[in-house]
Amino acid sequence: MSHNIQLKNPHLEGMPSDYLYHLAINVPDTKNTGDIQKQFGDVRVICTGGTAIRMLELAKYLGKLLGVEDTSEPVDLCAKGHRYALYKVGPVICVSHGVGSSTFSVVLHELLKLVHYAKCQDPIFLRIGTCGGIGVTPGTVVVTKDAFNGLLRNEHEIAILGERVVRPAQFPESVIKDILAYGVRPDDGFQIISANTMGTDCFYEGQGRTDGAICEYTAEDKMKFLHKCHDLGIRNIEMEASFFASITQKIGVKAGDICVTLLNRLDGDQVNAEKKEEFEHRPFLVVGRYIQQLLKK
Ligand code: URA
Repeated sequence: MSHNIQLKNPHLEGMPSDYLYHLAINVPDTKNTGDIQKQFGDVRVICTGGTAIRMLELAKYLGKLLGVEDTSEPVDLCAKGHRYALYKVGPVICVSHGVGSSTFSVVLHELLKLVHYAKCQDPIFLRIGTCGGIGVTPGTVVVTKDAFNGLLRNEHEIAILGERVVRPAQFPESVIKDILAYGVRPDDGFQIISANTMGTDCFYEGQGRTDGAICEYTAEDKMKFLHKCHDLGIRNIEMEASFFASITQKIGVKAGDICVTLLNRLDGDQVNAEKKEEFEHRPFLVVGRYIQQLLKK
């Protein structure tokens, strides 16, 4: 039996309308969401990723792969909000989330409310991103198992009402298993692994880089930190995993984080843009096949 997602906020019950401000989508009557259901009710997969251009490319790629009838250029459905971009291709939406948990948090809260009001059945949230690898060949695709924060804890920490709130941060095993089972082909020419991911709040000091505007540790300290990460089974570093895992786990919605490593952090800090485009396409292949399989069910 399929299910609409249940949000964890009793206050929403008392709200007659709800304006999803950053998506620029209005829900004029929360008790009668027929229009929203018509527009988004068929959505099964919500793909998220950093930039608007990458999400447009993904939408076009998935449209072709899934044989979506409407072959016109996808339109940004939240352009009026001037913050995020949202494209819909058949039962999939592709949404940009910016850099890091703070921008992702805003759009993820609103997306969860959107699929709730639209009564989407068993929606799956995916993040398709880039990251730094630890001890893996650049170009490796990592599917996150447990998400660690910058304090090297398998949890997400957030300040709420002046208090420190800590939530667990794991992705469902069933999603990881299916992504690996359906997303990978032996002749792809790149490695795909499932491993732990560290999601930090800072690209530079938070990820132990020595090339930021401020750095108060030695190159040796940095390597010690990266090896400590490696010992915890962490094979990639990005800026969203612990938040993404914690909020989807709290709501009880299925989710997966699929990122390609742009560099091996054991070899340096600077991102080489040369192979970026080629590498960025790899998670598209993996996620595309996984979605194809999912939609057969
Ligand atoms: N994104 C990150 O957060 N870190 C990297 O090293 C590369 C991409």
